Amino acid sequence: MKIYIFEKGFNYSQDGPGNRLIYHLSGCNMFCPWCSNPEGMTKSGIEYETDEIIREIRSSVPMFFDGGGVTFTGGECTLQSKAICEIIDALPEIDFCIESNADTFDFLSVAQKCNTVIVDFKSPDMDKLLSVTGGNIITIENNIRQIEKSKYIHIRIPLIHNFNDDELSLDRFIDFFTSLNGNFDVELLPYHEYGKEKWLNLVKEYTVKDGFVKKETIKKFVNKFNENSIKVIKT
Ligand code: SF4
Repeated sequence: MKIYIFEKGFNYSQDGPGNRLIYHLSGCNMFCPWCSNPEGMTKSGIEYETDEIIREIRSSVPMFFDGGGVTFTGGECTLQSKAICEIIDALPEIDFCIESNADTFDFLSVAQKCNTVIVDFKSPDMDKLLSVTGGNIITIENNIRQIEKSKYIHIRIPLIHNFNDDELSLDRFIDFFTSLNGNFDVELLPYHEYGKEKWLNLVKEYTVKDGFVKKETIKKFVNKFNENSIKVIKT
């Protein structure tokens, strides 16, 4: 089976425990204007056979120290769920992780097979999420609810001024998180511009104008989450 990858390599990573082989899969169903991997949004990327990737992972086992393994990220990795599942099923001894926007129907089938699941939850506001990123809040929240019933998950919020750092968003994040089973932690990722150069190199307009979040705002989010027994972590 074919799998499309735009970047791969080892990283002692934030994307799962230990030293990991990270595969960035091509294609995304969202169009976040701050994306740090805009080159991965399209379907391009290098075509591989899943067998090649399976062989590569097997030969990399000595590198998976400190509880490491393999992470599939993107783009949105679950858009290539069949290829990922084939690889995971062929390698039951390997520790797998996915990092996903949880906005696909195949998210659950992949996430159930992984030891570590990282979900990017960008906004609890249905209209804003849809208009700014193309994301569907109903699919995302439903997927988080389902997976969190049986698996501990890491939820990442890219905190962006003029998008999701206001009081109403904070209240809505809290409403959603406190409606879950508590089988998760939350990490805040304050806005950065690591991807800006890439957008410009791709001759794409970088439209985020004033995304940096004040330190006080980050503190307020952390404090309010803590007050509501929502576990906040830093990786
Ligand atoms: S979901 Fe992730 S990969 Fe896709 S556009 Fe947004 S930030 Fe980029």
